Amino acid sequence: MKSQDVRSTYLRFFEDKKHSIVPSAPMVLKDDPTLMFVNSGMAPFKEYFLGNAKPKNTRLTDSQKCLRVSGKHNDLEEVGYDTYHHTLFEMLGNWSFGDYFKKEAIAWAWELLIDVYKIDPDILYVTVFEGSNDGDALEMDQEAYDLWKEIIPEDRILMGDKKDNFWEMGDQGPCGPCSEIHVDIRTPEEKVLVSGKDLVNQDHPQVVEIWNLVFMQYNRKANGSLEVLPNKHIDTGMGFERLCMVLQDVKSNYDTDVFTPIIREIETITDTEYGKDAEIDIAIRVISDHVRAVAFSIADGQLPSNTGAGYVIRRILRRAIRYGFTFLDKKEPFIYRLVSVLSKKMGDAFPEIKSQRQLIENVIKEEETSFLRTLDQGLVLLDRIIETTKGKEVSGDKAFQLYDTYGFPIDLTALILSEKGLELDEKGFNEELQKQKQRSRAASEMSTEDWIILIEDAVEEFVGYDHLEAQVKLTRYRKV
Ligand code: ATP
Ligand code: MG
Ligand code: MG
Ligand code: MG
Repeated sequence: MKSQDVRSTYLRFFEDKKHSIVPSAPMVLKDDPTLMFVNSGMAPFKEYFLGNAKPKNTRLTDSQKCLRVSGKHNDLEEVGYDTYHHTLFEMLGNWSFGDYFKKEAIAWAWELLIDVYKIDPDILYVTVFEGSNDGDALEMDQEAYDLWKEIIPEDRILMGDKKDNFWEMGDQGPCGPCSEIHVDIRTPEEKVLVSGKDLVNQDHPQVVEIWNLVFMQYNRKANGSLEVLPNKHIDTGMGFERLCMVLQDVKSNYDTDVFTPIIREIETITDTEYGKDAEIDIAIRVISDHVRAVAFSIADGQLPSNTGAGYVIRRILRRAIRYGFTFLDKKEPFIYRLVSVLSKKMGDAFPEIKSQRQLIENVIKEEETSFLRTLDQGLVLLDRIIETTKGKEVSGDKAFQLYDTYGFPIDLTALILSEKGLELDEKGFNEELQKQKQRSRAASEMSTEDWIILIEDAVEEFVGYDHLEAQVKLTRYRKV
């Protein structure tokens, strides 16, 4: 089944069950200061759950563009390294606002997966909330368990704790237990059998969660206690790309038709082949993922910039440029050339990508050009540093200069050094970073209020992302 049909089948199925199909909200919600990007299907409907606004229908269905690159949900580090976490992904959802509840949500989920999508029931597992011994003293979700028991053998129903199976929007507000549906698409040889929780939650790339059914039945009050909601709601979220992986009988989201046209284009442009070399494969996955995130953000009006959400977008694009530069040996702009493929593939479901295509290409190309220039200059300077280094370690102070004055990414410095058998004085680098943070704080305190926000924003985020990424990536490169 082609991805277009996977999406439309989902929406039509729920339309038949009296849901109204609504378009995806933009990824940047202008009226929600608590969230940088929409990171789940429910975010645009928050006000309906809280009872502050009324939907046009108590049943809705949609495919929401989600971005998990900041805050509580940040999957950026996984992207490219695993085969099922993306920065931007679509979350298919069906919603009941005080209308149907667990019985229908579970029965319809099963009907869709088995009768409509024809998934073999033997590869599915479900999870149920086991209850909690903490202050909430919640009971296990017997209602969900009994409903699942009618449709799936009991040894495929696994108990999950609060972390995995109790969903909360924040410190206050609607919340409740959830049931997740997982697939196990390992071949018999890949199965080292294993029972219960291990099987579903182990980090095997072919054992993945595809759908989360959230049963909102409580309200968390300001004093931390739970009260039973008068109106109960359903919030479901299914990863579209993961569903396509299952339905197209492949082992990775990147082998579905959501990604293959982009990957083919990268292969052509960079004269590489996907599936032959671990590092090249990671780079190709990173680029094919990130171009989607950046293109859709620009289409939604969030351009790369130096602060806030714009800065996150700039960093995602730079991450892609760096992987292309380092592993695909691509020293001139090329990511912008992938936009036309993306627009062809996604333009029908998301017209904004078609109508904004020219702008998206121009913005990406300009960003690529300027960052590649930075990389070039930085490499020359780094070479000079390496030449003058005595011993094995490059001082944190010098690496910091390169990072701070020339914008050269610290993780790239660390990578190049490790390739040359040298080490980076990370401690020294961190000390310089801290000093600079204090300097800019002090400077911003003397300035106007707007300026304070700008400065703090940029510095905080820079630190959080680039440095953390440097550490994680390095350990991973050693593994590859
Ligand atoms: P995981 O445990 O795999 O990280 P999750 O529990 O964080 O997923 P939910 O918040 O329950 O995910 O989101 C609902 C669905 O969205 C998941 O069941 C999954 O199919 C999909 N999903 C979540 N995160 C991603 C991602 N980064 N990329 C692609 N799909 C995702
Ligand atoms: Mg997650
Ligand atoms: Mg999960
Ligand atoms: Mg989940």
